[in-house]
Amino acid sequence: MMSWLLASIPVLVLVLFVLLLVRRHHEMQGYARSHRERRDARERGTHTARLQYPDIDLGKCLGCGACVRACPEDGVLSLLHGQAVVVHGARCVGHGLCATACPTAAIAITLGDLSDRKDLPALGEDLEAVNVPGLFVAGELGGFALVRTAVTQGAAVADAVAKKLNGHDKNTARHVEASVFDLLVVGAGPAGLSCSLRARQLGLAFTTVEQEERIGGTVAAYPRRKMVMTQPVELPLHGRLNRQTYQKEELIALWERVWREHDLPIRTGVRVEDFARDSSGVFTVHTSVGPVRARNVCLALGRRGSPRKLGVPGEELPKVAYSLLDAESYTGRKVLVVGGGDSAVEAALGLAEQPGNEVSISYRKGAFTRLKTRNENRLHRAVELKRVRVYFESEVEEITRASVRLRCGRDGAVDRLTLANDDVFVFAGGVPPFALLERGGVSFDPADRPTPTEPGRGSGVLVALMLLLCCTALMYGWVNWHRAYYDLAAPVRAGSPLHGWLRPAGAVGLTFGFLACALFLCNLAYLIKRSKLMGRRLPGSLGSWMSAHIFTGLLAPLCVLLHAGLSIRDTVGGHAFVALLVVVVTGILGRYLYALVPRAANGREMDLDELCTQLSTLSAEWDRGGRGFGSAAREQIDSLIHAGRWRAGFLARVWALLAGQFKLRRVLHNLRQQAQSDDIATSELHRVQGLARRAFRISQAVSHYEEVRAVLSSWRYFHRWVALLMVLLAVVHIAIAIRYADIEWWWPIAAGGVS
Ligand SMILES: Cc1cc2nc3c(=O)[nH]c(=O)nc-3n(C[C@H](O)[C@H](O)[C@H](O)COP(=O)(O)OP(=O)(O)OC[C@H]3O[C@@H](n4cnc5c(N)ncnc54)[C@H](O)[C@@H]3O)c2cc1C
Repeated sequence: MMSWLLASIPVLVLVLFVLLLVRRHHEMQGYARSHRERRDARERGTHTARLQYPDIDLGKCLGCGACVRACPEDGVLSLLHGQAVVVHGARCVGHGLCATACPTAAIAITLGDLSDRKDLPALGEDLEAVNVPGLFVAGELGGFALVRTAVTQGAAVADAVAKKLNGHDKNTARHVEASVFDLLVVGAGPAGLSCSLRARQLGLAFTTVEQEERIGGTVAAYPRRKMVMTQPVELPLHGRLNRQTYQKEELIALWERVWREHDLPIRTGVRVEDFARDSSGVFTVHTSVGPVRARNVCLALGRRGSPRKLGVPGEELPKVAYSLLDAESYTGRKVLVVGGGDSAVEAALGLAEQPGNEVSISYRKGAFTRLKTRNENRLHRAVELKRVRVYFESEVEEITRASVRLRCGRDGAVDRLTLANDDVFVFAGGVPPFALLERGGVSFDPADRPTPTEPGRGSGVLVALMLLLCCTALMYGWVNWHRAYYDLAAPVRAGSPLHGWLRPAGAVGLTFGFLACALFLCNLAYLIKRSKLMGRRLPGSLGSWMSAHIFTGLLAPLCVLLHAGLSIRDTVGGHAFVALLVVVVTGILGRYLYALVPRAANGREMDLDELCTQLSTLSAEWDRGGRGFGSAAREQIDSLIHAGRWRAGFLARVWALLAGQFKLRRVLHNLRQQAQSDDIATSELHRVQGLARRAFRISQAVSHYEEVRAVLSSWRYFHRWVALLMVLLAVVHIAIAIRYADIEWWWPIAAGGVS
């Protein structure tokens, strides 16, 4: 039996080793993918965010991937070198689920560096424009997307207006003219609606105008049955919107119901064109149906503005539309979709799925560069199946009742193409409403913006550690109080009068044992919170659960120590304690030390990105001069960077490290030869050779960090598997104790059962 067990150990180790290698292989492939995606995003220009985005503190990121899993958008976040990185920042719509999911509070949703943003109005804390008193901005126009933010800000504006009116100037000008409203709300998206509802609740004299014939703003323009992620939010006069997701139609129906129920004075089909504030502080707002006068104005316009027009003959025909609400109502039609963004491609794909439709896309560029991967893949399939035809480098020249004329190609090779056509959908973006605000005196100057407060990232670890310190002090006091017993050597303790209740099976020792078990069970509850299935049902953020995990994990060994009377023996219980220590130490290592290595690797990766940008600028200069040296140098240095880093197999990576020097020499030699044949000056050759050497050094450093990171990441395995071993040992220890120990229960339940 024993020899059989011994023989199976190497097999087991080998199996484990192979499993680990396979896992590592997958991990490396994943990183290589993330790396490619990042380069891609940079080339497409989707790496920078438009509004808010996740700001990741790499010093705190554990690389658990919870944020990547939590983000409902495609490719915003990814893992690189075991840490989260932003890949397609432009795809972030600010759900903030990544920040909630992060157990170490390493993510905060911010607007980033505002110092050179010229597209955000300068607003005070109560959302009032800093240089136009009485003018408020709510919702996405102020820079923060999300339905929840819009609803909260809309209500906050009505509150601020009511506060102002109830203040010192309540009776001065308020009722000077009966026709002057307390508040004019512009826009009936989530922000405008919420503002109107709260204004009704507060009894303000207000009116709301909306340029479309329907309410709901951007949400109403989503495609049919799109799921909207909301996060719980309080809608004035209605109550809490509690669900995490709603179908677009459900939200619109709900908003229409509250509109009717509370008889909100919303005028649809009325567009605001201009506004000005006179010396008495009253606004005259010019709308498409005449002026409206109000003492306060809430601009809840969103950022979509009005759709950008093509400016071609025939655009006024009724078959031309700027949004697609319901693809299913178009069948057997010849449709042209104009544009190359996600909205255009999603509309084209939706239309192509309907029976009998012939769908074409006209895009002025030579390739789609901003698409979500999912849309790109779907489009490729649709093109292969001939469901969609794409005309790149084409522009609409004229639209007639039955056709569309396209101008295709550029630089002399221009063709004209006439397509039979029933409907045209234009997705050429929108003209943002900033000019309207500027004409009304709103400043967009970053210098006028109040300094934003740093987003809080506290995860409560400090509180947990303070609590732990208090508990440790109390325990230390306890030990000191009973030093007479704890100072005795284990064999002579039985003679002490305190032995009866301080020994492991005594009343006090047992209490500490139970406490340790309870703490450890609480500690394991963190795993339930992290699970996708059950996590949402438990209250609180993952960050506070992580703090509780740290607190209970550190306090449990102290309780075990007191349970054992400060004397750990060579028993099952003693082994469980050692396992517990391993779990604690690996946890600390993972939480605080491991994060440093990936951070260093990611830092080097950024240096490398910067170097590649320098190289691109230089090579573009050379290539402009008609010489091919630029692209050749780029290619050579690119191959040098990638040679050693993304080999998935361990041996291949070691080999790449060893062969790196030869590769560098070859690249330097090739560059020299190419420079000679292209007549490049020696100083320029030295410059590019310098870049090649630096690129090589940094990429080698990234590789080394990657190896160290791989070794250190084993903390995770120890932490988990030793924790499991510890739980097993603790169960065996408890079973043995119940069966054999002379337990002194402090309540009578087992008086008969345990001797
Ligand atoms: C594709 C997409 C998906 C999204 N998914 C989500 C999601 O899942 N969850 C989420 O929380 N958020 C999501 N968002 C963001 C969310 O839709 C917006 O943040 C939110 O709608 C902003 O509300 P708002 O009231 O500020 O502006 P909007 O909803 O844009 O409403 C502005 C209103 O003002 C009107 N208006 C504009 N100019 C004038 C004028 N001059 N005169 C009169 N009326 C005017 C417009 O017609 C419009 O009705 C998504 C956005 C997009 C584009």
